[in-house]
Amino acid sequence: MDNTNNHRIEGIHHITAIAGDAKRNFDFYTKVLGLRFIKRTVNFDDPQTYHFYFGDEQGTPGTILTFFPWGDKVRKGSRGAGMATEIGYAVPEGSFDYWIKRFEQYNVIYNKPSERLGEKYLPFLDPDGLKLELVIPAVADPRKPWETAEVKADVAIRGFHYTNLTLNDMKATSAVLTDIFGYKLLAQEGNRYRYGTDAIDTANFIDLTEIPAEHRGIGAGGTIHHVAFRVKDDATQMAFHQKIVDAGLHITPQIDRNYFHSLYFREPGGVLFEIATDNPGFTVDESLADLGAHLKLPEQYEPMRKAIEAHLVPLD
Ligand code: ZN
Repeated sequence: MDNTNNHRIEGIHHITAIAGDAKRNFDFYTKVLGLRFIKRTVNFDDPQTYHFYFGDEQGTPGTILTFFPWGDKVRKGSRGAGMATEIGYAVPEGSFDYWIKRFEQYNVIYNKPSERLGEKYLPFLDPDGLKLELVIPAVADPRKPWETAEVKADVAIRGFHYTNLTLNDMKATSAVLTDIFGYKLLAQEGNRYRYGTDAIDTANFIDLTEIPAEHRGIGAGGTIHHVAFRVKDDATQMAFHQKIVDAGLHITPQIDRNYFHSLYFREPGGVLFEIATDNPGFTVDESLADLGAHLKLPEQYEPMRKAIEAHLVPLD
C-alpha cells in the first residue's frame, strides 16, 4: 500500500512569540482576548523563564499561541524580512463591533477594519507590539471556541486563520510550501500571496508578503519566534524529516516537547519552521478540566522545582 498521501501537513500546529512581562501577557490573552490558558510551563531550554500556551478548550493544534515571556527588561524586537510578522485569528461575522468596543475599553492599539484577499480584518497590537488581526473568513469557521464570562461564543476567537511571512525574495520559501508541504498558491493581492492546503479546513493558510528592500527582522519582544506546522503522528513527521533532508536543508533530530514532538529547520527565506505532532497532546500531564492550573515541569526539571518557582512571577 502506498502511504505517501497520508503524509500531509495539516495546517498550522502552533505559533510561538516573545513577550515581555509575564503577567501582562497572561492577562491580555486570557482576559482581553478570552483564550484558554492551556499550559503553564517553563522554557525547556531556559527553565528560569515561563513558557505559556493559549488556545481552545483542549489546546487543539491550529489554535495554540505560545509565548516566552522574557520579563519587562526584554529588548523590543522589530518586525521585518525573514520572520512571521502577523497572526490572523478567525472570528464570526458581525463580531467586529464587539471587539472594537473591547479594544477601546482595554486601551488596545487597533486600526479600523479593512479588506484584503476578499476578507474583512481588524488589525491590533498586543501589549508587546505583536501584530495580530481578527479576520472574518470567507467561509465561516466551524470550530467550537473557548468561552469566558465576557467573551461568548457568538464573538469568540476560533483559532488561527493564517500567519503572514515577510520575505525579501519569496521564491525559495514558496517552493518549501508547495513542493514539500503540499500547499498551493490560491490568491494574490499586490505583493501578498496566499497559500493553502486542502489537507484540513482551518488554520490552513500561509500568506507570503514579498518586500525586496525590507530590513531583516530582529527577533525579541513583540515578534514571532517560529511557526509550527501540524502532522498527525511520528511516522508522518519522519517522512517530512526525510523530504527536508532531500531538499538539501538542515533539520534537527526529533525533540520531545512533552506535549508534542518537534523538528526545526530554517527555511531559505530565514523563517524558523517547526513540524510538530498531534501526539501526545496537553492532557499528558494534567486533566482537561485542570489545563493551565498548575506549573508543569518536564521530568528533568522536577528536582529543581522550588528554585524554578522562586524565579517565576505569580499570575493569579
Ligand atoms: Zn514550537
